Amino acid sequence: MAHAKNNFRFEDLLDKHHLKKTGARLRVLSMMHSKNTATSQPDLETLMSDIDRVTLYRILNVFEEKGIIHKVFDLNGTANYAICHADCAENHHHDEHLHFNCTACKNVYCLNDLNMPRLTVPSGFRADAFTIYASGLCPKCNKKSDKAN
Ligand SMILES: [Zn+2]
Ligand SMILES: [Zn+2]
Ligand SMILES: [Zn+2]
Repeated sequence: MAHAKNNFRFEDLLDKHHLKKTGARLRVLSMMHSKNTATSQPDLETLMSDIDRVTLYRILNVFEEKGIIHKVFDLNGTANYAICHADCAENHHHDEHLHFNCTACKNVYCLNDLNMPRLTVPSGFRADAFTIYASGLCPKCNKKSDKAN
């Protein structure tokens, strides 16, 4: 029961969004929380092969809709999912942090600790979400390329 404390937090999160606390939902949350990169659905399928694809698909959809996770795209255009850190709400995401696409390992990082300017759109537009991307080398791959030179 080493993870009891963590599970409790995830249960609170599901409560807050009026979602039933199923084992599969809790596992998806704790898996995504334990990673420092966004994760694609195929990767999640591999990591949690006992959860069937349809269930996983539904979990990701409802989490995204509720403002628990957000979608980001990697350089191949594959959707990846990451836990929301900002004050996201149902159908309204505020993940205005930088998404860093590493061109070497293809991982997508949510960089939450940067001070991003508050973004607005011209009048007449209604933005439901902002996604800001950068690409280059993540610290791990950057180190490797230093050694190679
Ligand atoms: Zn969000
Ligand atoms: Zn990398
Ligand atoms: Zn993010």
